[in-house]
Amino acid sequence: MLALADPSLLVQAAFIGGQWCVADDGATLAVEDPATGKVVGTVPACGAAETRRAIAAAETAFRSWCSVPAAERARLLECWNDLILANAADLARIMTAEQGKPLAEAEGEVRYGASFVKWFAEEARRIYGRTIPAPGTDRRILMLEQPIGVTAAITPWNFPIAMITRKCAPALAAGCTMVIKPSELTPFSALAVVKLAERAGIPAGVISVVTGLPAAIGEELTSNPAVRKISFTGSTRVGAHLMRASAGTLKKLSLELGGNAPFIVFDDADLDLAVEGAMVSKFRNAGQTCVCANRILVQAGIHDAFVARLGARIAAQKVGPGTQPGVGIGPLINRAAAEKVHAHVADAVAKGARVAQQAETSCADGNFVAPLLLTGATTDMRLANEETFGPVAPVFRFETEAEAIAIANGTPYGLAAYFFTEDMHRAWRVGEALEFGMVGLNTGAISMEVAPFGGVKQSGLGREGGYLGIAEYLEPKAFHMGGL
Ligand code: NAD
Repeated sequence: MLALADPSLLVQAAFIGGQWCVADDGATLAVEDPATGKVVGTVPACGAAETRRAIAAAETAFRSWCSVPAAERARLLECWNDLILANAADLARIMTAEQGKPLAEAEGEVRYGASFVKWFAEEARRIYGRTIPAPGTDRRILMLEQPIGVTAAITPWNFPIAMITRKCAPALAAGCTMVIKPSELTPFSALAVVKLAERAGIPAGVISVVTGLPAAIGEELTSNPAVRKISFTGSTRVGAHLMRASAGTLKKLSLELGGNAPFIVFDDADLDLAVEGAMVSKFRNAGQTCVCANRILVQAGIHDAFVARLGARIAAQKVGPGTQPGVGIGPLINRAAAEKVHAHVADAVAKGARVAQQAETSCADGNFVAPLLLTGATTDMRLANEETFGPVAPVFRFETEAEAIAIANGTPYGLAAYFFTEDMHRAWRVGEALEFGMVGLNTGAISMEVAPFGGVKQSGLGREGGYLGIAEYLEPKAFHMGGL
């Protein structure tokens, strides 16, 4: 049993229309700790019927929630934010137990997740419309911004709290209600954070959480006409499926999908910044982030120095259960994830890459993968074309700026890209040439609540966070007032 200051935060129930409940047939799904394989707990294995009830509750709740004054919605969100922060240690313990990331990182995610609640509490007060000059004197034209209605969130396991608050906070701030389907691998973080929303006083039905079987819940969310918008974060494959499935009811969609981030180090880069940036971008969450550096492109003149420095940092990484002090790299989410990483490394080595460095560890089996530096990576390797989603840093050597840009853009994905240079002219050129929704210059950290987050090409549609985030949950209405 998890040791929590507030044990009631580990909720083993779904939350539908303000009621904590079991699945209609009593079926459950077990959730395992990726570090130990032990069962953390079980959640209801809900399906279409429970989802339908959650949508109906969200429809009912929308009628009153949409007319709650913005200042009151903001106050409730502020209160939710305060409760998340006050319970950060417990939320982190729950997250580490089901997701594996080190406790300090988990607590960092809780704070990052709360930052969206705070940001959108503030944004709730700033939903402005416009007045438009009319062609005649007998008319006035206004643009109103109104909440879309019932929305749904489908979220992944890699950021089990932040991916929920990034969707739910703007939805509620805009006056929408939301049905959340968290990943079946990490439902407890979602349930705990929603328990705190309930304690904050957010009315029944405004948020529901349906745990259980992805296909059955997804089928109901995409086909039910009452759901006006779906916000999804996850793989491009499932995102494309949801888009097709939503076509029948023409829903608005936000899709935050997979990435294949290039991380480019030019000869004129500040080596300290570049190595630090690579560590942050590559190894956070054991490499299981959509924006993590998947391809590290290093110019010939700085290649050997960069590889030596990055190798030394990788060798010093401590691998182990996320609950152990000093651990920087926890387990991967499950065996399939670890096997995919091993397969990418084997494929790269078979095609000529060399293992230049590997962290020493006693737990490099099961779901644990020791951080690894590969040199001699080339574009025909699997790790150049697919998300590796693990702690493997493959280094590609390049000669010219044009070559680096061509390799960087040579992917169907377009989420995040990073580059390191001290040359201002190159900074502009490369920043503009990279076909990605987010670009980091001389930094490996680009995710924060104040800036819009999202991708282009097959990395998705829409933006979360920043000044654009709330617009995803608002519908503009042109209001023509004639006969004046
Ligand atoms: P996934 O696509 O397998 O699952 C995501 C969610 O979709 C889960 O809740 C899952 O249960 C659900 N799902 C699966 N099949 C479904 C169906 N038929 N109907 C409805 N829901 C269904 O992704 P994952 O493995 O959980 O997460 C990793 C992926 O997420 C990576 O590709 C990563 O790049 C991406 N990701 C993107 C962002 C971003 O902001 N762009 C952020 C985090 C993760």
